Amino acid sequence: MSTATLTIDLEALTANWRTLNAASDTTVETAAVVKANGYGLGAGRVARALARAGARKFFVALAEEGAELRQALGPGPEICVFSGHMPGDTDMIHDLSLVPMLNSIDQMLRHVEALPGHPFGVQLDTGMNRLGMEPGEWAALRDIALTQNIKLIMSHLACADAPDHPMNAQQLAAFRQMTDGCDVPRSLSATGGILLGSDYHFDLTRPGVGLYGGLPFAAARPVAAISLPVIQIRDLDPGETVGYSNTWTATQPTRIATVAAGYADGILRVMGPNTQLFADDIACPLRGRISMDLITVDITHLSEDPKSLDLLNDRQTVDTLADNAGTIGYEILTSLGARYQRRYVGA
Ligand SMILES: *Cc1c(COP(=O)(O)O)cnc(C)c1O
Repeated sequence: MSTATLTIDLEALTANWRTLNAASDTTVETAAVVKANGYGLGAGRVARALARAGARKFFVALAEEGAELRQALGPGPEICVFSGHMPGDTDMIHDLSLVPMLNSIDQMLRHVEALPGHPFGVQLDTGMNRLGMEPGEWAALRDIALTQNIKLIMSHLACADAPDHPMNAQQLAAFRQMTDGCDVPRSLSATGGILLGSDYHFDLTRPGVGLYGGLPFAAARPVAAISLPVIQIRDLDPGETVGYSNTWTATQPTRIATVAAGYADGILRVMGPNTQLFADDIACPLRGRISMDLITVDITHLSEDPKSLDLLNDRQTVDTLADNAGTIGYEILTSLGARYQRRYVGA
């Protein structure tokens, strides 16, 4: 095998969905967020596995993603679009039965004019100032919206990964104030909000990253594993250097394996210093710079030359890599790129 392999454990994925589903009352529906190609792991495969596990509602960022997802899921599951009803999206929304989350008065007008009677949701801004109607806009529109085919009222928490942050209670109060008395299903929480407790659950939760094994869902089972093929192995004498800019110099006889993946595969250059590859359980430190397509690894201490080395496993998770790169697991997952051979197991 000459290409890097990204193994996606669909059984761990569906187990994570079930655990997050069980974290809320049985009256609360648990949807699944599969935007950005299922956080890089393949929206179609991921969504089909989750649909088999019982998920009936899916969220994507863009109508185009929704259109692709519809092909994978077939009719039946509800597909909701966070970006709402954008100019040019009308045919897709209609033909593929997508449910736009309307974010402004403009989107609302566009939607009811172009597709009267077509279901929609409304996204409210409760303080994040990113997407959704402001309180004033919603107040002006609310009575009209509630007489249309409205399926969901939602908002999004800015600080749910920090349970003690006062912003959580502030947004909860704002959401209640804007939506109490509306006889429409409500949704406030993504992964982090689910873990804040039942006050935050309302009628529907929208987990994303937790399904894929990432924080803030600390009890998640890892879903993604990466194995990288070794292309070449060489011995270095003390004083020899490795990689671009000679950033690493051997101080003793050293055996270096060159592995076929690099920053073009989401193995970010900045994560180099603390990141290791694994030969089964044995950690092997990276040496020198991460290149676009290649990594160099110290295997001096191995008793056998490895055919491949693992980047992501139960010991080094997406969140370990995120720490090493000064980022979050979300960015690691969605940066993995198109070059991996994706293998789906456990379904
Ligand atoms: C991405 C997103 C989610 C899912 O968030 P996670 O933190 O990945 O669980 C839910 N709702 C909205 C509006 C989002 O943008």
